[in-house]
Amino acid sequence: MAVLDHIDFARFIEGVKRRNPGQPEYVQAVQEVAEDIFDFIQDKEEYHEYQILRRIAEPDRVVSFRVCWQDDKGNVRVQRGWRVQNSNAIGPYKGGIRFHPSVTESVLKFLAFEQTFKNSLTGLPMGGGKGGANFNPKGKSDHEVMRFCQSFMTELYCHVGADIDVPAGDIGVGAREIGYMFGQYKRITNKFTGVLTGKGLEYGGSLIRTEATGYGATYFLQNMLERVGNSIDGKTCVISGSGNVATHAAEKINHLGGKVLTLSDSAGFIHDPDGIDPEKVNWVKQHKTKRRGRIADYVKQFKGAKFYEGKRPWGVKCDLAMPCATENELNGEDTKTLINNGCIAVAEGANMPTDLEGVHVFKSAKILFAPGKAANGGGVAVSGLEMSQNSARISWNEEELQKLLTDIMKGIHDSCVEYGGTRGSEHIDYVRGANIAGFKKMADAMLAYGVV
Ligand code: NDP
Repeated sequence: MAVLDHIDFARFIEGVKRRNPGQPEYVQAVQEVAEDIFDFIQDKEEYHEYQILRRIAEPDRVVSFRVCWQDDKGNVRVQRGWRVQNSNAIGPYKGGIRFHPSVTESVLKFLAFEQTFKNSLTGLPMGGGKGGANFNPKGKSDHEVMRFCQSFMTELYCHVGADIDVPAGDIGVGAREIGYMFGQYKRITNKFTGVLTGKGLEYGGSLIRTEATGYGATYFLQNMLERVGNSIDGKTCVISGSGNVATHAAEKINHLGGKVLTLSDSAGFIHDPDGIDPEKVNWVKQHKTKRRGRIADYVKQFKGAKFYEGKRPWGVKCDLAMPCATENELNGEDTKTLINNGCIAVAEGANMPTDLEGVHVFKSAKILFAPGKAANGGGVAVSGLEMSQNSARISWNEEELQKLLTDIMKGIHDSCVEYGGTRGSEHIDYVRGANIAGFKKMADAMLAYGVV
């Protein structure tokens, strides 16, 4: 086979930009990964010969479709839905569905790209995908959400399947939406299979799936600290978000002896200097999920706390930080503020919450920094375990699953250490470690398949 030139980095990124116009999030995600992989593949001729890097920067396919539904007043509404199937090199496509007005093809392509590396890192046989729609569930009645989910699944069902592509939840898609979508899939296909994860326990869901992402991210933080002889016990922690990932991270930080100072939503953040203890975290969970309320209401409930409208929590002095809301919520300035205030470790619960400049700041400051693709892999790992339980038609108990989750998070941590170390230094670059470890498994599978 003819050997093409080794591509140079600038030319590679230029090509990615040219082929993906108007898709900044996708370009950002590819660039961040490629910065680390470039060095790693320099002397590995096969990867160049088979154009592995160029191939992984092109999703297997992107499906987009119209989703029509009727609101409670009988008006016809039109949304756009997508499923990005990024890579099934190491298993069926797997990744969540997001319903949020900010969803675009670029956002879903970046999420599917990140997901592919994350899934590879878990050690489970799962490829990477992501989907969603520019639908805003906020302020909609249950019936409106049900009609939307049914219509969305009516378009999606022919692209997914237990051995093809297995979606899960993400922002705006929780137990309610998964139930409506699973019900519609079952109705259309007349099949009861593990086509979605994050299902209710009554119909094939797995114990601890709900808790897994937030708990897993906190275990990762604990693993990083333990490696340098430190711990979460007695430390203060700033958390953003107040959804699934943020509240379970807060729960686990409390459990491990830390003190949670902040939570946020898209309207601002609350700071509680007394600590957001387990009882307060429970109140937030109920308030955000059952009552679909706002985090600002926290200050009416708990004295001593303050709400900062339109602000992010990164200016609050802390030892640890866990961004758990959304992408690009931490910029270069925020990361410098955290470091200047004495923050020693950051674990990303959200996907790509730190922008490229912020990642560079963390990397050069050499603080303990775990990227989302490593730290938040606990959710998809338990989704993978849900798939196994569905295939075998069994249910594991909570103890078994907790053990598997902690072992998987330790495994991801150790893979990052293996590939993220620098000769002559104790410091681990977890971003590089995660990128290379995730890449290697996928790339080697692609080599085995030849040119496909
Ligand atoms: P939820 O919908 O449960 O919660 C999202 C939280 O983030 C809410 O507090 C929401 O506030 C806030 N938020 C959303 N968009 C914005 C925005 N543009 N600016 C500020 N705040 C915002 O989602 P999850 O907790 O499930 O997901 C959070 C992050 O974790 C996402 O990046 C997701 O991709 C990632 N993730 C989730 C996994 C899971 O298992 N759920 C697995 C791996 C990663 P508001 O209520 O105002 O919208």
